[in-house]
Amino acid sequence: MEVFNSFHEFPQRFLDKSYSLGMVPTMGALHDGHLSLVEKAISENDKVLITIFINPTQFDDDKDLMNYPRELQKDLEKISHFGENIWAYTPNASEIYGEHLESKHYDLNSLETVMEGKSRAGHFQGVATVVEYFLKTFSPTRAYFGEKDYQQLQIITHLNELLGLSTEIVGCPIVRTSDGLAMSSRNALLTVEERKIAPQIYQGLQLAKKLAKDYIYKSILDEVHAFFHKHSELKLEYFTAADPSTLVEFEPDEKITRGRGFIAVRLGKIRLIDNINMS
Ligand code: AMP
Repeated sequence: MEVFNSFHEFPQRFLDKSYSLGMVPTMGALHDGHLSLVEKAISENDKVLITIFINPTQFDDDKDLMNYPRELQKDLEKISHFGENIWAYTPNASEIYGEHLESKHYDLNSLETVMEGKSRAGHFQGVATVVEYFLKTFSPTRAYFGEKDYQQLQIITHLNELLGLSTEIVGCPIVRTSDGLAMSSRNALLTVEERKIAPQIYQGLQLAKKLAKDYIYKSILDEVHAFFHKHSELKLEYFTAADPSTLVEFEPDEKITRGRGFIAVRLGKIRLIDNINMS
């Protein structure tokens, strides 16, 4: 493994490429979900570049940014086990943004106006800004993103087309702990009690999936809201079933088995998201 914090240390390496490069962008505090992306990237490419960068412009809440877990030494230790074909890029914000810490603006169309886009103003413009920088700077053969952030995956696929880039965007399945909770760097911020309750988020999604076989969307919405009303420590921000490509929400009287169910929940001070294939 080799760690570097500026593209300018090795410009030639990324300009004349005689090898395939897999890129895995992360914000660090690495867990097995991230590592599953790294493993897939290693199996499909000659070299793998993991970026570890907490991107300030994608946070709409300063406290959330301040409290985001930072574990660089532990992260590098975890990656080092993957051997010598791994590069870890750990830039400062100024390398990416220069003096102006601002997002660019992209036409992300209706993908941006729903769910996480609605709840977190400017979030996806910030994500798109840093991902454009990574894609253009390193021109990876493939870039790996988790379905854990399914809306983000759709937006990056759209961005890649919008910018006419040749990188293949690869989506990877959600990795869960044995109790069903989707792995997330934010799980480390839960109290012991909250951590015990958190798997109910996935139980709510599984309930929706089970009901989707027989019932229309409106009934499922009612049941999911009733489920979270009973589990009152979990504050449901939204449950939405939508088309998996366009993210357009279903009509209340439609069956939703060909869609994907998305959820955002607040548990204490922490906001968690998850999603499930409804078919
Ligand atoms: P983050 O560090 O949270 O920005 O995540 C970096 C990448 O890892 C994103 O593409 C995420 O979707 C992906 N990821 C995070 N958690 C998981 C998980 N539990 N399973 C699969 N991929 C994940």
